[in-house]
Amino acid sequence: MGKKIINHDVIVLGVGGMGSSVCYHLAKRGLNVLGLEQFAIPHHKGSSHGETRVIRKAYFEHPDYVPLLSRSYELWGELEKESGQQIFNECGLVVYADKNSTVYRGISRSSKDYNLPLEEMGVREAITRWPVYKPDDRHSVLYEPDAGFIYSEKAILSFVNLARRSGATIKENQHVLRYDSNKQGVIVKTDTESFAAKKLVITAGAWSAYILEDLRIPFTLLRKNLSWHNAGSMHDIDNHMPCALFEVGEHLFYMFPMIDKKCVKIGKHTGGEVLQRPEQKQIVKPDQSYLEPLQNFIQSYLPEVSADYNDFVSCIYTNTPDGNFVIDIHPRDPNIIFACGFSGHGFKFASVIGEIMADLTVNGKSDLLKDFIKLRIFEKPDDNQTS
Ligand SMILES: Cc1cc2nc3c(=O)[nH]c(=O)nc-3n(C[C@H](O)[C@H](O)[C@H](O)COP(=O)(O)OP(=O)(O)OC[C@H]3O[C@@H](n4cnc5c(N)ncnc54)[C@H](O)[C@@H]3O)c2cc1C
Repeated sequence: MGKKIINHDVIVLGVGGMGSSVCYHLAKRGLNVLGLEQFAIPHHKGSSHGETRVIRKAYFEHPDYVPLLSRSYELWGELEKESGQQIFNECGLVVYADKNSTVYRGISRSSKDYNLPLEEMGVREAITRWPVYKPDDRHSVLYEPDAGFIYSEKAILSFVNLARRSGATIKENQHVLRYDSNKQGVIVKTDTESFAAKKLVITAGAWSAYILEDLRIPFTLLRKNLSWHNAGSMHDIDNHMPCALFEVGEHLFYMFPMIDKKCVKIGKHTGGEVLQRPEQKQIVKPDQSYLEPLQNFIQSYLPEVSADYNDFVSCIYTNTPDGNFVIDIHPRDPNIIFACGFSGHGFKFASVIGEIMADLTVNGKSDLLKDFIKLRIFEKPDDNQTS
C-alpha cells in the first residue's frame, strides 16, 4: 500500500441511489465510511433523478425479487422515521394489460406465490373507480393497493444526511480515476486526491462498465425520457389517484399522480436510444420516435392530460442481458464489493441493496443475496437491443 495510511474502513465509489444507501447502512453500523461522488449530490447525469420512482411488490420481472421488496419496504419505513421526511407515498398502482401478457401473468403469479394483496377487476369497474384512465376492451385490470412511489432525490439526500450524522465523510465532485488493491486494502485515486481503506464498495451506475471493466459485464446503456404534462385536477394525488402502468401493443407506459397541482409525470419503460458512454446523455429534446407513441398513448387513454409536454429530463438505464441486477464480492479480490446493472427497475430496492452491501462488506455474505442476481456469465447482447 506504499506509505498511504489506511484511515477508512470502507470507501464507497459513487453516491447515487445505491451508494447513498450503502453509506447510510455502513455508517450506522459504526464503520468509518468515505463516500466519493464525481458530481454534486443529487445530480441529473445518472439514473436516479426526476423526483419519483414507482415501487411495487407483486413483481412481474421475477418472483424471487419479492423477499427483497418486503425488506425494502421495511427499510424505507425506517428511513422515513429516522429522517422525519416522507419518502414513500403508498398511493397504489393500477395496471392495464393483456391478460396473457408477461406483465399481467407475472404480477398475478408473484401475488399468489407470496400472498400479496391484489385486486382483479373488469374495465368497467376500473373506469368507475378512476375515470381519468380510459383503458380499452383489450385490457384487463389489476390494482396493487400497497404499491406507490418513492421520492428518489429526497431519499438520496436523506441517506446522505443520516450517513453524515453517523460519522461518514461524503465528498462531492471527486471523480475516481482508478483504484489499486492488495492484501492490506485499497487505494483510490481521484482527480485531486488519493484515499486508502480496507474495502471498496463500487456503486457506479451507468459508469460501472469502466470502473468494473475487468468483469466484462455486457451492459447496454439506454437514454430514457421522463416528461411532465399539464393535467386536470382529477389527477391530483389528494383525489386518491394511484400510479398507473399501461401496456399498449409492444409499449409499456407508466405514470404518476399529480403531486404539484399542475402536471403528471409519464415515462415509457420500453424502447430507448442506445448510448456508447454515459456522457452522451446530454439533455436533448425528445425526438419524434419518442413523442409519437407517447402522444398517441395520451390521446387514446388519458383524456384529462395534455399531449404536449411542459418539461422533461433524460436519464440512463444500465441494462444487463437478462434484466436482473449484478451484486457480488469481486471474484478475484475480496476487498471489492459491487452492485450494478439495475436495468431500469432498481430504485425501489435501494434501501435493501444498502443493507445487502453492508452485510457483504462486514460479514462476507447476505441471506438476501440469491444466485439470480449474483455475478454470472452473460452472452454479449445485440447492440440494438432495447429494454
Ligand atoms: C427514466 C427512468 C425511470 C426509472 N423508473 C424507475 C421506477 O419507476 N422504479 C424503479 O425502481 N426504478 C426505476 N428506474 C431505475 C432506477 O432509477 C435505477 O436503477 C437506479 O437509480 C440506479 O441507481 P445507481 O445507484 O445504480 O445509479 P446512480 O444513481 O446513477 O448512481 C451512480 C453514481 O456513481 C457516480 N459515479 C460513477 N462513476 C464515478 C467515478 N468514477 N467517480 C465518482 N463517482 C462516480 C455517478 O456520478 C452516480 O452519482 C428508472 C430509471 C430511469 C432512468
